[in-house]
Amino acid sequence: MLKIDNLSAEIGGKPILKGLSLFINAGEIHAIMGPNGAGKSTLAYVLGGRPGYEVTGGSVTFMGKDLLELETHERAALGLFLGFQYPVEIPGVSNVQFLREALNAQRGARGEAPLSGGEFLKLAKEKASLLKMDMEMLKRQVNVGFSGGEKKRAEMVQMGILDPVFAVLDETDSGLDIDALRIVGDGINTIMRKPERAVLLITHYQRLLDYVKPDFVHVLADGRIVKTGGPELALRLEEEGYEVVAA
Ligand code: ADP
Ligand code: MG
Ligand code: MG
Repeated sequence: MLKIDNLSAEIGGKPILKGLSLFINAGEIHAIMGPNGAGKSTLAYVLGGRPGYEVTGGSVTFMGKDLLELETHERAALGLFLGFQYPVEIPGVSNVQFLREALNAQRGARGEAPLSGGEFLKLAKEKASLLKMDMEMLKRQVNVGFSGGEKKRAEMVQMGILDPVFAVLDETDSGLDIDALRIVGDGINTIMRKPERAVLLITHYQRLLDYVKPDFVHVLADGRIVKTGGPELALRLEEEGYEVVAA
């Protein structure tokens, strides 16, 4: 599904990713952990196509296509979803409006007909109930005045509606209490744990991995993957620290 081969990238002339390789098959959940400043978010942004992140070497293939050649919206239409630590607020726009626009833009790019307001609401209700979430929240403005937990619920419904094949979640668990963590964990498991889908979970903490069991855990340090293991690696990292484990 995703093949990152020897990827190098810089921000404002400063090298951040330095020959990073990672292969992710359909059906797999991968976690990336690593010290602050290692380049984890940079990797997520490069995959998403954020301006200002310059790829200086290597390649990324997603669903058989050269990802780096695609515009951000084309990546989304191919089934890439990115979730971030600090979701944006969009005053004046409801979640329902926002999500219908986003979904119809992706459908359009795939040559599919747009959903009508009624069709979209039906889908939104279905996804909200699948994730045990209150539809009322979706009628509110995007993230405006949302608590941390509500933002995460909204993000999970967003992921459910957009129905991606691959999700990159960058510290989406940061600062969450146990209830919110469970919401994120359940959301990821319900929506993404399927044979034809995959997830890249970037996290500082092992605790999310109690809810979403990864198939592989990687340590990213100084712009590369320096160690790969199973779920037990995350436990060791927490107990012993990155420096000891990655040495
Ligand atoms: P992580 O997510 O692993 O904590 P980041 O990818 O956010 O790390 O950052 C990697 C490095 O890139 C850090 O040294 C950080 O200071 C630097 N960096 C991140 N964003 C910018 C930016 N916009 N301009 C300059 N340097 C940046
Ligand atoms: Mg950081
Ligand atoms: Mg980060």
